[in-house]
Amino acid sequence: MQDKEYHNHKIFRAGWLRAAVLGANDGIISTASLIAGMAAINSDYNIIITTGFAGLISGALSMSAGEYVSVCSQSDIEIADLKLEALSLKNNSEYELQELTQIYIDRGLSKKLAYDVAVSLTKHNALDAHARDELGISMHNRANPIKAAIASFFSFSTGATLPMLVALLSPVEHMIFSIITSSVLWLATLGIISAHTGGAKILPATTRVSFVGAAAMAITALIGKLFGT
Ligand SMILES: [Zn+2]
Repeated sequence: MQDKEYHNHKIFRAGWLRAAVLGANDGIISTASLIAGMAAINSDYNIIITTGFAGLISGALSMSAGEYVSVCSQSDIEIADLKLEALSLKNNSEYELQELTQIYIDRGLSKKLAYDVAVSLTKHNALDAHARDELGISMHNRANPIKAAIASFFSFSTGATLPMLVALLSPVEHMIFSIITSSVLWLATLGIISAHTGGAKILPATTRVSFVGAAAMAITALIGKLFGT
C-alpha cells in the first residue's frame, strides 16, 4: 500500500461530496429565490419568514424522497441483474467461464493468462468477479437508499438555513440585496471547497455555480416584481 503515500485519489470521495454540495446548492438557491421573490412582492416580514421556512422543509423532504426513489430503483436493477447472473453461473458455468475469459482477453491479457485469471477469480468468488467485470457493479460500495435520503435532507436544509438566517436578520427593504449577495458568496465558497476537495480547477467551477445561482435568484425576484404589483 505504498501507493497511497505518493498520490491521493480523489475519486473515492467525489461521490458523497458531489451529492452533499449539490444538496446544499439546491437549498441555498431555492430558498434564497423564494425569499427574494416574496420580498419583491413587498410581503410582510412574517410572511416572508414563514414562506422561507416552508420552502426549506418541503424542499428538503422532496429532495430526500427523490434521492431515496432513485437509489432504490438503481439498487433494484442491480439486484435483478445479480440474480440473473447467479442463476446463469449455476446453470451455465462453462459458458460463464468463457465469457469472463473473453472479457480479460478484450482488456489486453493473453489467452492463457486470461483463462488462468478467470479460473482463479471464479474459484475465489464467481459472482463478485462477474458483477464487477461484466456488469460493472461493485459489491463493496453499493449505495444505501436510506443513508442517501438522510444525507440529502441534511445537505439541503444546511444550505437553506443560510438564506433563512440572512432573512431573519435583514429588514424587508434590504432583503433582496442581502439575500442575493450573501447567497452568491456562499455558492462561491461551496464551489471553491468542492473544486478543491474534488481536485478540479477552482475558477471555472466557482464561476459556474455562482453565476447559475445568481441568475436563478434574479429571475425569481423579477417574476415577483412583475406579478406583485
Ligand atoms: Zn457472467
